[in-house]
Amino acid sequence: MVNKTFITNNYKETKKLGIKFAKEIKNINVICLYGDLGAGKTTFAQGVAQGLGIENRIISPTFVIVRSYKTKNQKIFYHIDLYRVETKRDLEELGIEEILNDNNNIVVIEWAEKLANFLPKKRIEINFSYENKSDRKIMFRLVNQ
Ligand code: ADP
Ligand code: MG
Repeated sequence: MVNKTFITNNYKETKKLGIKFAKEIKNINVICLYGDLGAGKTTFAQGVAQGLGIENRIISPTFVIVRSYKTKNQKIFYHIDLYRVETKRDLEELGIEEILNDNNNIVVIEWAEKLANFLPKKRIEINFSYENKSDRKIMFRLVNQ
């Protein structure tokens, strides 16, 4: 899936793409999501959680910023939403750096552009764009720099 682009035609397809993606994740633990409000980032993250075998309901972390769940493989899935984060200090207080540096974590970050200096070299970037009411364009890219 890496370096591919998909168009999904409804919410369920985006979730399914997340499930499929979760099963392909190897040797990478940071997944950066970009795109406007309503573009499908949380929907995709819910799919990733499901694909990792998490049964809890995945609530959008917008207000809490960081939520974590145990996967069926004894990893920790972190779902982070940086929409409300404004400063480097906020990131430090949330312990973002520690979360990103632990290889036992699988971290999905909405509004990852706010990571600034904390952005890890090796990551998967996924861009979501709103095409029309029901279509979303989802572009995957592996970055290692
Ligand atoms: P974000 O986290 O990027 O703000 P959400 O996943 O919370 O986005 O919301 C996406 C919204 O768009 C939901 O209301 C969903 O029902 C709707 N939607 C319509 N078509 C799609 C699609 N193809 N993929 C994902 N969501 C879609
Ligand atoms: Mg969201």
